[in-house]
This record gives sequence, C-alpha cells and structure tokens, in this order.
Amino acid sequence: SLLHRARFTVSAARLDQLPAPTTAEVCFVGRSNSGKSSAINVLTNQRRLAFSSKTPGRTRLINLFGIPDPLDPDAWLGFLVDLPGYGYAAVDRAARDEWAEVLGGYLHERSSLAGVVLLIDIRRGVTDLDRRLARWIALRGLPTLALLTKADKLPYGQRIQAAARARKDLADIGTLTALPFSATHRIGLDEAAAHIENWISP
Ligand code: GDP
Repeated sequence: SLLHRARFTVSAARLDQLPAPTTAEVCFVGRSNSGKSSAINVLTNQRRLAFSSKTPGRTRLINLFGIPDPLDPDAWLGFLVDLPGYGYAAVDRAARDEWAEVLGGYLHERSSLAGVVLLIDIRRGVTDLDRRLARWIALRGLPTLALLTKADKLPYGQRIQAAARARKDLADIGTLTALPFSATHRIGLDEAAAHIENWISP
C-alpha cells in the first residue's frame, strides 16, 4: 500500500504553522482513546508513527505524515494529518477552546483537505460531537469514512448491527461509509486503505 511509505514530516501547534496546502490531505479525527493512533499505525504499517492520546507531548499538535511521490522522491503525493483527539480537553476550558479553534479551523478552511477519517469506538457508538463534526465536514462537501474501531471486541453479528446503527445515526450527513475496523485484528484494513489512497491519489 502507498500508505506504508508515510513518514513523519512536521508538527504544528497552530494552523498558520502548516505547510502550504499544495497536495491532498486526509485527516484523522476522533475522541481521545478512540483508537486513532492505532489505526494510523496499522494503516501505515508502522508501529509508532502516531502516538496514543495517553502519550504526553505531541498529542495536542497537528502531526503531518507525508507520502512521498513514487515518481518524484523530492515531492509529496499527499499527507495523512493526525488532528488532536477530543474528550480529555473537556476538563479544561482553555484547552477545549484551543482544540475547537484548531480542529474547527482546520476542517473549515484547509483547502487541500480531500477526505476525513472519523474514528468511533464501536462499543460507544456515534456521539453528539461525532455528529456535529460529520455535519461540518459534509457542509464543505467532503466525504467521511467512519471507522468503527476495536471491532474485535464484539462478535460478528453485533459488529454488523453496530455498523448499521452508525450509518443510520449519520445518515443525514453527506457522503459516508461506516466500516467495522480493528487495528489489532486487521478488520476492515484493506477497505479503509483503499478509500484513503483513492482520496490521496484518485
Ligand atoms: P487514541 O487515543 O485515539 O490514539 O487511541 P489509541 O490508538 O491509543 O488506543 C486507545 C486504546 O485502545 C489503547 O489501549 C489501545 O491498545 C486500544 N485499541 C486501539 N485499537 C484497538 C483495536 O483494534 N482492538 C482492541 N482490542 N484495542 C484497541
């Protein structure tokens, strides 16, 4: 997979620190502990490319992982963008406001954004904030891929039910695919990778 070539490129604390929006970006958003970093790591086949929300430091930043253009090693084909997770920030008002500004600003303004991967713990299901985010993405006319993470924790039948429920919960919200996904058991991996590659290099 093209995604296996991804490598850490740059971190940004603010939107004005991001590189010029010249190539396609696919961003990853989700609650803290939703399995976002595990998903990025398995999709890129790298054990520690993205860091868990439990790791202090880089987790409050926007982290960009560049995918080198196979035809031109000096150029990027696109970026995977790891946005700060939400949830923990709710304890601290200043941090929450900062998060909302960074994430809202990125989703709203970033002209190079091609698609959004929304990480949702399959047992928790779609939250209000997930819905608001998905609506915001749809208003921009961008597609969302909802990955229902940790699907290995449910038996097959319940996984399918949870996916149907998530599709229903997000049904009024633009272009959407919802897939059961597991980083540990590689469930939904090929299908998720195909969507993301197609957004980066159609
Ligand atoms: P993040 O905070 O959203 O980046 O989430 P992490 O990727 O750090 O995952 C949060 C917790 O869920 C960790 O304890 C992971 O080991 C666990 N986890 C993540 N993905 C999976 C999965 O596919 N299956 C299972 N069983 N646990 C997972």
